[in-house]
Amino acid sequence: MSQMTVPLLDLKPQYRQIREEIRQVTEEVYESQQFIMGPRVDALEAEISAYCRTRHAVGVSSGTDALLLALMTLDIGPGDLVLTTPYSFFATVGTVVRLGARPVFADIEADSYNLDPAAAAAALEALGPASRRRVKAMIPVHLYGRMARMEELGALAEAWRLAVVEDAAQAIGSEDGRGRRAGSIGTAGCFSFFPSKNLGGFGDGGIVTLNDDELAEKMRILRVHGGHPKYHHHLVGGNFRLDALQAAIVRVKLRYLDQWTAGRQANAATYRRLFKEAGLDGRIGLPAEGPGRHIYNQFVIRVPGRRDALRDHLAQHGVGCEIYYPIPLHRQPCFADLGYEEGDFPESERAAAETLALPIFPELSDDQQQYVVDQIRSFFAA
Ligand SMILES: *Cc1c(COP(=O)(O)O)cnc(C)c1O
Repeated sequence: MSQMTVPLLDLKPQYRQIREEIRQVTEEVYESQQFIMGPRVDALEAEISAYCRTRHAVGVSSGTDALLLALMTLDIGPGDLVLTTPYSFFATVGTVVRLGARPVFADIEADSYNLDPAAAAAALEALGPASRRRVKAMIPVHLYGRMARMEELGALAEAWRLAVVEDAAQAIGSEDGRGRRAGSIGTAGCFSFFPSKNLGGFGDGGIVTLNDDELAEKMRILRVHGGHPKYHHHLVGGNFRLDALQAAIVRVKLRYLDQWTAGRQANAATYRRLFKEAGLDGRIGLPAEGPGRHIYNQFVIRVPGRRDALRDHLAQHGVGCEIYYPIPLHRQPCFADLGYEEGDFPESERAAAETLALPIFPELSDDQQQYVVDQIRSFFAA
């Protein structure tokens, strides 16, 4: 079999598709010389809130700042506790700790890699009386583009009176089994326009979705250092603004998002068929299907025992792949003082040791997918 190159993500074919539109809207920003906030950010906010089915959207400087700003708006601070998953991108927990709050981890489900509602309930029950009073919020992550179990987690949050901040950085347009969109269910939904996300800008950017009018107003004030009116500060915020250039670009890409999502879903279906035809569906774990709409920010397989060897084999044969994430957050050296130990969250630890993300971007060809599966088959045949 001749060597091919299949990158994990190639953004160039997407750019070629929209190049003229991008050049036009960016040119308009250059001519306007209006770079910070303004009508393009307002328009993007209106379009994203319509897309995510929320009353408000607040454009921000990154997905990380979306999380930070949402937590700040909810007054999460020193001594507070925030329930979340140890199996996510660093920012999910980094933002909690930066505010002086403490994460309380609960393990994930083996099939979805998302926060397990039963584990979440047990983690809350295990808290002492003083700690119970300090739990303020929960951050479910819709990892890889599949929604966490928002029905059960929402009920738990209600019982414990917790705010719910959805980390929807990988889940724009995802829906749960009831057809509710990511970012529309909790108190706030946090999205990223990092270039590798399904709706990526040409640099950093993000947005927060929410339904509460008062919280939205407070968030808009905190986004500009807490000044309201300008130079009058009752709150200490930060510079969390979104650039007009990013807003203009993301607006163009938003019009293609559903088409690109359909491309990712078609590629996922193709992988499932090819793995089955190759007799590999028993050897590797495939992403769980349903309920709801999975947008496949990543297509992640599970390879018990031989993940690193498969990764090396694929890399040698020109196939891009990546481990999201190799070290669960409770095992990160910077969080050692939280007192968690190896073995505390076995499903998260197992996922960190067994998962591998394969190329799934919309423009991936059938030949490329066949090549990826052929390489995996030859690995297991050897
Ligand atoms: C990408 C990502 C973030 C952070 O977004 P940035 O725009 O890179 O700051 C947060 N959480 C998750 C789950 C992510 O995938």
